[in-house]
Amino acid sequence: MKKIKSVRKLCFLCMEEHDVDIVEIMDNEIYKNKEVTFPAIYEYCFNTNEFLENEEMIKNNSMSMKDAYLKSIK
Ligand SMILES: [Zn+2]
Repeated sequence: MKKIKSVRKLCFLCMEEHDVDIVEIMDNEIYKNKEVTFPAIYEYCFNTNEFLENEEMIKNNSMSMKDAYLKSIK
């Protein structure tokens, strides 16, 4: 898990205001019957030890996944 930055904001996981880490982790998903590994960006809450994707991250992570898929079938 690589920390990119941290932002003080209302965290939607624990519903408290605190420094939320923006992190990059290697994610694994099955896409079109193929297992792909790709870097994904998440918000990390240390109170709940859970990850959260906002709308922009969902979009970027899905692009990153398709990118990894396309590279893997070449
Ligand atoms: Zn939190």
